[in-house]
Amino acid sequence: MRCLVVLNTRSPGIGDGLTYETGGLPVVIGSLVLAPLRKKSIEGIVVDVTNVAADTEETFTPRRIEQVIGTQPLLTPEAVEALWWVAEYYHCSLRSALTPFVPAAPWRNAAMKETMLCSFISEPAKPGVRQKVVLDFLREHGPLPRDALRRKTSAASATIRSLTEKGYIKEERTADIPPPVTAFETTEARPLLSPKQKRVCDMIAASEKPSLLFGITGSGKTEIYASLIADAAAQGKQSILLVPEILLTEYTVHRFRKMFAPERIAVIHSRLTSSARRNAWMRIRSGSVALIIGSRSALFSPCARPGLIIIDEEHEWTYKNEQTPRYNARDLAEKLCSLSGAKLVLGSATPSLEAWARAKQDHYTLARLPERYMQRALPVVRVIDLGTVRFGSLYPFSPPLIQAIEERLARKEQTVLFLNRRGVASAMLCLQCRKRLVSPVSQLPYTVHRGPDNRMYLLDHVAGVSAEVPAECPHCRSTQLLPVGAGTQKLENILSSLFPTAKILRADSDTLQHPEQMRQVLDDMRERRADILLGTQSVVKGLDLPMVTLAAVLVADIGLSLPHFRAGERVFQLLTQLTGRSGRAGPGDVYIQTFRPDAPEVQAAAAHRTEEYLETELTLRTLLNYPPSVPMIRLLITGEKAEPRARSVHQAVLRLITHLGVEAQATVAPTLFGIGLEWHVLIKGNDIHQLLAHIPLTDVTVDVDPMDVV
Ligand code: ADP
Ligand code: ZN
Repeated sequence: MRCLVVLNTRSPGIGDGLTYETGGLPVVIGSLVLAPLRKKSIEGIVVDVTNVAADTEETFTPRRIEQVIGTQPLLTPEAVEALWWVAEYYHCSLRSALTPFVPAAPWRNAAMKETMLCSFISEPAKPGVRQKVVLDFLREHGPLPRDALRRKTSAASATIRSLTEKGYIKEERTADIPPPVTAFETTEARPLLSPKQKRVCDMIAASEKPSLLFGITGSGKTEIYASLIADAAAQGKQSILLVPEILLTEYTVHRFRKMFAPERIAVIHSRLTSSARRNAWMRIRSGSVALIIGSRSALFSPCARPGLIIIDEEHEWTYKNEQTPRYNARDLAEKLCSLSGAKLVLGSATPSLEAWARAKQDHYTLARLPERYMQRALPVVRVIDLGTVRFGSLYPFSPPLIQAIEERLARKEQTVLFLNRRGVASAMLCLQCRKRLVSPVSQLPYTVHRGPDNRMYLLDHVAGVSAEVPAECPHCRSTQLLPVGAGTQKLENILSSLFPTAKILRADSDTLQHPEQMRQVLDDMRERRADILLGTQSVVKGLDLPMVTLAAVLVADIGLSLPHFRAGERVFQLLTQLTGRSGRAGPGDVYIQTFRPDAPEVQAAAAHRTEEYLETELTLRTLLNYPPSVPMIRLLITGEKAEPRARSVHQAVLRLITHLGVEAQATVAPTLFGIGLEWHVLIKGNDIHQLLAHIPLTDVTVDVDPMDVV
């Protein structure tokens, strides 16, 4: 027998595994083994096992596996199958694909250990006092692991050993697997769903296909998840609930602590130490955990009895891994569910165009919840045209917004303010013609920076050249030029000068390092110890804070100004999320401050017309030949020679397209923030996967279904 082993080493050239002879050892797919590599012995995972026919003529004799570690394979056959899929679909090595499936090395620390299980056989005619204690205990409670028996009876090892040697106790090696659970106990009554929620929940439960739960903000998606998780638990099956942001795991755990005892919940995210992660990994594999909550890496949890995967806020970009393996959690979850028979549920108030298209093609079951729980009204949305506001030094706080915040403070209600993802000024905008200042060298928008003397200057990241801020707009000669996207720190300062007595909280990945700090922020809001929550979109989205009656985005245009086919979708998602934060318990208001009040995504979000927006956008994508109507692959090239190399890859791709007769297009360009040292080739069209097999890609990063394309 032969096996293919992916070794835990960075040695070049063996990323796709090495072949070994099993040498009669009990090697199966997923086994953790020790295998020789040159003069060393290295841990590896078996990803394939094959029979070699006797008459095969071989050019080499493979070396033998040295040892199989653990009583059970480290990975399930489904996990191994999934990793093959990741390697093939995302075009990476087996070793890269394996990394997220295994805990930190050494892997043997996570292997199933053997224990010696003692059982009662018979009793000597005249047992000693100590012997009698052990034997009686074992007769009543056995079979027991030797260690446990010793602890429970305070017996000496010698006592147990002597009983074993004389045959009164039998010792057997057993894997440390707990007996199968028939049901996980829940510590709260099942969520009581409204009739509409119940209908949707039943529809999802009955569906053989993955489901897209398209429920507006406040419709009670979390309660539906809870109900589905309870269903799975009743059958002893494990659920995985993915949230888009590490800081939100704590918030979600809080909800589910009502449902399960602490030892039935595991939290997985990339900020765990490797030992905490390994611990969680082993608890999950042992089958004792009912619910796993985490960010995208929780998807790789080694569930012993997988039953359900839920991806909350399915549209979020954080579900795409931007390092090799560059998987998208949504697609990988679909693969995992099809392999294990688990149910997949994607939830969103603003589905991604990808999920929407699949629902429309009947590939997903579409379950709609178009009303808020208890028919609560959606907030009133007001769009403020930033181009017509005279700010002075208070930019970007417009007078109507300032007044609205004042009113909340007077009424002891709360306000949530959305910041843009990064606090840097991103562009210089002309208020007259609404155009951005563009670099004549790269033809791309300048970004605005401040020098050490605090003077503003413009930077062309791509060409690496800087320029003075001109006195007037080169397009229309207006002198009304404004840097858009002020820094978060600065915003906080303005805010506290405007409202000196207000208690202001900030929540972004800079101020919060750990999910537990996020809980403090949430507690402060819930218990009214704070008046205003100023947070980045990624953190503030999705929160359920009942006393918030005003939500505002300070400058909605950051995404709009990027030359990206998903820019509109992203802004729409942000604005709809924003409307979801306000008035969750009573009437609420939403302020959208924007330089482009007429943009379709702004209009649609303000009018709560989600489905209409999705349909229009999908039509547009199809017309313009963009994902999800066609697949896309991005080839990234970095380094000093990025440009010539990218151009030659581009030429090779074009030749292949013609040669193979594939219907596809390819473009080459520098990336927006790559300062000329990063270039990419974008390929879109059906059947473009096959092109990859024919291009040398050693110095190229392949990004299949890319999110980021600028
Ligand atoms: P979504 O995730 O869709 O925005 P949530 O699940 O946060 O909505 O629900 C909105 C609010 O309504 C929450 O405070 C939630 O507790 C409450 N809610 C929703 N459904 C129910 C229900 N069936 N029973 C009790 N409360 C509910
Ligand atoms: Zn102008």
